[in-house]
Amino acid sequence: MLRIRKVADATTAVNRAGIEAAQKIMREQFSGMPDADIAKLPDQLSNPLKHRFVSRLFVAENGRDQTLGVALLLYFPDIGFSYLEIISTAKGRMGAGIGAALYERVREEARALGTQLYFECLPDDPALSPNPAIRENNIARLKFYERYGARPIVNTAYETPVTPGGTDPPYLVLDPLGSNDLPSRDKARRVVRAILERKYAELPASYVQLVVDSFKDDPVVLRAPRYVKSRRAAVQGEVREPGEPRIALTLNDDHTLHHVQDRGYVEAPVRIRSIMAELAPSGLFERMPTKRFSDRHIRAVHNGRLVDYIRKACLLAGAKKSIYPYVFPVRNPARPPKDETVLAGYYCIDTFTPLNESAYLAARSAVDCALTAAEKVLEGTGLAYALVRPPGHHAETSTFGGFCYFNNAAIAAQMLSRYGKIAILDIDYHHGNGQQEIFYHRSDVLTVSVHGHPSFAYPYFTGFRDETGMGPGAGYNLNIPLAEHITPEQHRNAVAEALRRIKRFAPAYLVVSLGLDTARGDPTGTWSNRARDFEQLGRMIGEQGYSTVVIQEGGYRVRTLGINARNFFVGLAAGHGAAREAVPAVTAGTPKPARPALEWRSAVMADDVGRVRSLVTSTGFFSAAEVDIAGDLVTERLTKGIRSGYHFVLAERGSGLVAYACYGPIDGTQDSFDLYWIAVAPEEQGRGLGTHVYARAEAAMRKAGAKRIYADTSSSDRYAPTRGFYKRMGFAEQARLPDFYGPGDGKVIYVKALSAEPVDRAPAPKSK
Ligand SMILES: [Zn+2]
Repeated sequence: MLRIRKVADATTAVNRAGIEAAQKIMREQFSGMPDADIAKLPDQLSNPLKHRFVSRLFVAENGRDQTLGVALLLYFPDIGFSYLEIISTAKGRMGAGIGAALYERVREEARALGTQLYFECLPDDPALSPNPAIRENNIARLKFYERYGARPIVNTAYETPVTPGGTDPPYLVLDPLGSNDLPSRDKARRVVRAILERKYAELPASYVQLVVDSFKDDPVVLRAPRYVKSRRAAVQGEVREPGEPRIALTLNDDHTLHHVQDRGYVEAPVRIRSIMAELAPSGLFERMPTKRFSDRHIRAVHNGRLVDYIRKACLLAGAKKSIYPYVFPVRNPARPPKDETVLAGYYCIDTFTPLNESAYLAARSAVDCALTAAEKVLEGTGLAYALVRPPGHHAETSTFGGFCYFNNAAIAAQMLSRYGKIAILDIDYHHGNGQQEIFYHRSDVLTVSVHGHPSFAYPYFTGFRDETGMGPGAGYNLNIPLAEHITPEQHRNAVAEALRRIKRFAPAYLVVSLGLDTARGDPTGTWSNRARDFEQLGRMIGEQGYSTVVIQEGGYRVRTLGINARNFFVGLAAGHGAAREAVPAVTAGTPKPARPALEWRSAVMADDVGRVRSLVTSTGFFSAAEVDIAGDLVTERLTKGIRSGYHFVLAERGSGLVAYACYGPIDGTQDSFDLYWIAVAPEEQGRGLGTHVYARAEAAMRKAGAKRIYADTSSSDRYAPTRGFYKRMGFAEQARLPDFYGPGDGKVIYVKALSAEPVDRAPAPKSK
């Protein structure tokens, strides 16, 4: 089995092992690469702003987590291109299609980012590569890439050796990814400058300038094909619009076997048929074949005896009849009863989850679907949906019930948890008691459930607010039980609370237990969500931007099941698309459709130190020392609370901090305040957000009794927009201290005397 996995970060042992394996391959296969460059890989993955590009690491693995190959893609969001830094198979792993699989995955990623792909490749020209053995290797590589339409850019001085007389200087190769639009001269020059300056920090400026200036063709010209005879032979891959929403869908076809004919048994095959009837025409989904996974995934979350019992009892019951529990013993784990039918009560928590042959087969295949969807997300697909029945979220470690046999969501979460922190969000009408119990003692899987209060809703004995986790898991389970009759808006508010908790946890992957039984008219629920409410729920969840696996749980009102599901996924895909776009949106401020709403807060959280530093850095306006100060003020606030004298207004969109202000009373004065910082992310500038942040900060200062607000900035030309901003906000220049920051760079002090007047709402801003 060959799997290409996108390594999100270095937080888990498996990911660290993947990164280390990648580093080992780099050392072995790229002997010229400085060790410091290889060592910084983990930091590069987690700290893109420092390096001014985003790094994406892909590892090719077999089923035993052995790394067979590696590719490292750099994405430069401000210029809008991707650069393939490294692609290599492990020593002795040549020729198994690993390189091609990695390269195709990288192309897919570059295309999804809306970019073309650049990389370096050693030359095949004998004048540049005199050693025949090396040249032969170079030819093989160029030939490989040419099959995809990737060829060197010609008529430039890119392949100028840095040290005169050096051999094998690389070409700059461009893979236009099947497009006929080649980059303009100006774009190519920006790309080349970025590659040379950010990647090779030590190159002399004169060299960089020489190479940049040598790009004269407009647009650039690619070398004529040299190895692939006809253009038709090139592998162009599937041409897809960047950012087009696609949800990987897996479905357990054999669920129809599981059909309990008893009157009132609402968990019926028609549920999936009615959902599929609405999903299929939506064009949102790409159906994936279901892979078969080993039982060990089930045994990783369920007691082996329960798994064995369900299989045995189901096969024993056969296809024609069912075993229902009829006696529930006071549990005594040391003395399980012998009789298979009596044992049902030992393992089951209710009387409506029968055991028969088809129930086992359907439940087993639902697990395969959930794991198939989880694996898609692991490979880098943003959204995947396992449309399964029977559901799973009521199955605990050692018990089953509530139409559930194996806990599909927990099994998927357990598999994913090897690769990063997992949050499970359960929005079924009924409490997700299974996940809660399974992960109750763990802090690497956060379980959150929004459901009907157990005082009136199944499973009655769990789902209370005060169940918050135990031991290392204390604080990692959140239950939000709601009243019997609530409005859709109240339901959304509760889901928003759940999402805030999840955001603080910052999971690598999100698993959603999707119950559609919160719908108006559901026979097992009492709430009133309609199609448009499901669309909003989906959007709220999608806007978080997490790699998300959705697993079908309940939902029994067949008439509206499909339309509600479709609306949920329309919202999910739209929200997710907007969130994913917003992350790299450092490019010029084109308005993005359906952007997440702004969220405001004044409370400071631990990760704000890094977020404020990133925001301030991203403006490109402040020195490293200033960035340190901005971060230090947040640290002060975190350690000393309001005694620090630093107060904040923070604006978030999706999961990103987009603007903030820091202010506070000036020591030794009666009612004078200082506006220490105000900064707006580049992609948010020019839309009045600076004015908005300032207005909120001023309102807070007024409330705290401020009569005068002071602000200062530099007198240099560079800060003219800042000075203009203060003036528009109603500040007046009060003093000018010449040469304060340096010769010719003075300090300008502004003050705004607060009267009863409303805040100036003139359009504005720039940072600081
Ligand atoms: Zn339910």
